[in-house]
Order: sequence, then structure tokens, then C-alpha cells
Amino acid sequence: AVLVVGSANADLVAEVPRRPGAGETLLGGDLRLLPGGKGANQAVAAARCGAATVMLGCVGRDANGAFLRERLIAAGVEVSGLAEVDRPTGAALILVTPDGENSIVVAPGANAEAGPELLERGAAALADARILVLSLEIPAETAFAFAAAAARSGTRTVFNAAPARSIPAEVLRSCDPLIVNEHEACAALGEPETEVTDFEALARRLLAAGARSVVITLGAEGAVVAEGTGGGDPVVARIAAHRVRAVDTTGAGDAFVGAVACELARGAELDEAVRFATAVSAMVVQRLGAQSSVPERAETEAYLAR
Ligand code: ADP
Repeated sequence: AVLVVGSANADLVAEVPRRPGAGETLLGGDLRLLPGGKGANQAVAAARCGAATVMLGCVGRDANGAFLRERLIAAGVEVSGLAEVDRPTGAALILVTPDGENSIVVAPGANAEAGPELLERGAAALADARILVLSLEIPAETAFAFAAAAARSGTRTVFNAAPARSIPAEVLRSCDPLIVNEHEACAALGEPETEVTDFEALARRLLAAGARSVVITLGAEGAVVAEGTGGGDPVVARIAAHRVRAVDTTGAGDAFVGAVACELARGAELDEAVRFATAVSAMVVQRLGAQSSVPERAETEAYLAR
């Protein structure tokens, strides 16, 4: 099984003609309420790709929490580890502007209550899991504690170090793979963001910093996959993205992570898993929305066989 420990957010989306200024009231389009949050998006993607998937996290005792739980259940995710706490369900307030540079406020709410004590609640699920998926919209100490527990129990950890922050070396050592975009890659190393042009070299540096394997996602440019070989030269490869017309890239990175986790749980090699995930996210970017745009496994297989 795949165990996802992470966030669940209600995405409140409104289209606006431009960003409002200080003190200004703007009229927008109709409000859309969409299920989101990195953890929930990743869990839905893993389940749609065919993995038995368990989600661990926190929502509030409110309508948004019930809505997110229902969307997870509809995708086939096991949610008995999704706790209800006395804070509002996490939310993202998303203003979609014609320039395509959306403005987003994240209100973590219940996600901030997902403390390391979640380890006790998740002990049985972790023992059953072949793959653990972690991301950082919950307190980092929780993700780090789960990574350490997985290392002790021999569970393989897929670590999505997003949002960007530095990652301690002992946590990097349990990442197999660490999945980051280029910004998160620099942050994970604790480096200020520089203009990176050599992503293969960046992946090698993350291996040298301790990660067991690394995937750097590069949007329409695809992904770099790097694996340590235990002393020998690391194996580094570029996997191209599919050439598609992107209409909404929201959730592409999360779907990619969930798909990689599913394939690893099925016993795939990392490069095979990344090829499959690349096809899944190519379909995600051609549709509006995040969770709702992840295809069922049969659809991805038909797409790959076309
Ligand atoms: P993030 O949103 O986390 O920054 P990316 O934008 O790198 O993640 O996207 C993750 C993956 O989704 C990429 O590796 C690629 O396979 C796929 N993808 C993203 N944008 C596109 C696009 N415009 N065309 C095709 N595939 C894409």
C-alpha cells in the first residue's frame, strides 16, 4: 500500500480581471470550491493510478473537511486516519488573473495541527505500507519524524520537499527519491536560489548531500532522474515531458508524486515510475483542476500505448 502523510486544503478559486490593490474591492467570477492540498492531491493520484492508498492528516469539523473527506473516499482513498481537529480545514484562496500569475493565500488551519503525535495514529498504516509519501504543507517536524520512522521500519520514502525549505542531511538520507522542482532543489540544499542551467549537476549535488535518489521536475522540460549506485558513479537521465497543450498546470507536480509512489509500490524501477508519472501529469495539465483531472490507470495506459 501507499501511505500519504500530508495536507488537505479546500481551494477557493475566483477569476479576477487583475490583482486588487490596497483598500480596493473588485468583482470576480463565480467562486469555485475545489479539493486540493498536496497530500490529498497525491493520495488521489496514487489511488487513481491503482494503488491501495491510505491518507493521514487533519481537517476541521466543518463543511470543507467533510467535502475533502468525501472526495478522497470517492477516489478510493482510505481515510480513517484523517483526523478532525478544532481548527478550520486548511484552505487556499486563489485569485486567477489573466496574466496567468495566480495570487494565492494559504491558510493552513487544521494542517498545522498535524503534529508528530500523528506517528502513533499512523503506526499500523506505516507498518503495512510499501511506500510512504511526505510533503511539507504540514509541520516539517512531523514529516521528518515520519521519514525517520520509515527508515527504521525499512519503508521506502518518496519525499516531496515542497513548499521549498532546507532539508537536514539525515532526512535526505531517507529520501528515495527526493522529488523537487528546481526552486525546491536549491532550497533543500540550503542554498539561495541561483539561475540553474545544469539540472543534472544539481541532481548529483542532492545525491552527494545524502539523498538516495532524486527526481527534479522541470515542467514542460520533463524531469531529471538520478540514482546513487553505492560508491560508483550515479546514474543520471533526462526524461522528456509529453508535448501537449497545457491549459492548467495546477496539481501536475502532485499527480506526478502520487503516480511515482504508485508505480514504486507496484515494484517498478524509478525511471519506469517517472515515465508513467510523466504521462499522468501530461494529461493533468490538459484539464482544468487538480484532483479532478488525474486520469484512471486504464486511461494512462491507453495514452502510453497510442
Ligand atoms: P511543480 O508544479 O511541482 O513545479 P512541474 O511543473 O515540474 O511541477 O510539473 C511536474 C511534471 O508535470 C513535469 O515533470 C512534467 O512531466 C509534467 N508537466 C508539467 N507541465 C507540463 C507541460 N506544460 N507539458 C507537459 N508536461 C508537463
